[in-house]
Amino acid sequence: MDCQYFTWKRPTKCDECGEFINDYEYYYYEKKSVDKTQRVLVQYYCCINCYMERLPTESFKYPVNKIHKRELQPKDRLQFYQNMKTGHRYLSMQFARVPLNPDSYFHLSNGKDKADKISEQEEMLRAA
Ligand SMILES: [Zn+2]
Repeated sequence: MDCQYFTWKRPTKCDECGEFINDYEYYYYEKKSVDKTQRVLVQYYCCINCYMERLPTESFKYPVNKIHKRELQPKDRLQFYQNMKTGHRYLSMQFARVPLNPDSYFHLSNGKDKADKISEQEEMLRAA
């Protein structure tokens, strides 16, 4: 299984760490062209973790005073799993695998060792 957990309807990566953002609060900077078209030139997303980490040194890709906290609109929220190989989306993990307990969900959304956690769970399921 190569399922990844998402909480944004349109999954968006943090421009600092390159990971998909799962928190509904994030930091954002947008640059539009100054002409009439108001074309969006830059859309910069930063996850809360990166923001906190980088704040003391202000080592952002853009000036810190231009980066503002935002909250994802409820209409843009959607919790689902996506099989990264096939692109199929699952609203519930039941279709992809049977969770052992509610904590399983937590692990899936929890950081970089996601893949390890998933294979761990699969082994536990197989053993059960
Ligand atoms: Zn980040």
